[in-house]
This record gives sequence, structure tokens and C-alpha cells, in this order.
Amino acid sequence: MKLLTLNFLTCARKTCKSTAAAFPLHPKEAELEQVEMELNPLFVKNMLPRLDWEAMKTLATELGLPNLPAETPVAEELANESGEPTQTLRDLHTLLMETAIASGKLVCGNCGHEYAVKEGIANFLLPSHMV
Ligand SMILES: [Zn+2]
Repeated sequence: MKLLTLNFLTCARKTCKSTAAAFPLHPKEAELEQVEMELNPLFVKNMLPRLDWEAMKTLATELGLPNLPAETPVAEELANESGEPTQTLRDLHTLLMETAIASGKLVCGNCGHEYAVKEGIANFLLPSHMV
């Protein structure tokens, strides 16, 4: 699953839905893979304002990836004067679109439940007593 996806996921338990601690989910024993994708500057640019940047920073740190800028990059940092994508934009593309968790676990910071990720797919089904 793409790291971008993690920015839109929270614990599936009802009791966790409204708690801040359930977001973002924390990767554990995560194995990363790089999946090459064509650069779509407009997509990255449009996605940025919708991201929870603090959650992205936490994720990058927890995965041992290079630190992200303190603030969400603004449009001027994404393209140079002739409209070419900047390194910042390319780095974001690599992080959000091309870096994926191949296997491991996603842990809820509130209830501690661990969701398994296998072959790039997270299983969010809960045992019936936890729903
Ligand atoms: Zn939870």
C-alpha cells in the first residue's frame, strides 16, 4: 500500500474513530518496496493541501526515511520558473506514490490493535468481538 494511502486511514474500531491517538496508524516491522510510477505533477500539487502533513512527518520518521520539511511545501516550491517540476516535487512523488509498504503491520496508537499488511494489502477486518 502506498504511503499516501496511510494518510487517509484510521483504526477500524468504533471506539477509536473519534480519538486523535488512532491516527495515523504506526508501521511496525514494515518492509518497504519502490513501485515506479509516472510523475504527475498536478496530482501531487492537488494532493498536498489535503494531506495531514504532521502525520506524513510522523510516518517518514517511523519508517526511517529522510525527514520531511517542517511545513507542507507550497506551490512555488514545486515548479521552477519555467514550470518544470522541482526536486521537492519529485521527492514527494517518490515518497507518496512510489514508496509502499509491502508487508508488516499497522498499529493503532489508541487500542494497540495490529493490522497485518501482506503483499501490499492491509487487512482491516476485525474479529467480531472488536467491532
Ligand atoms: Zn484502535
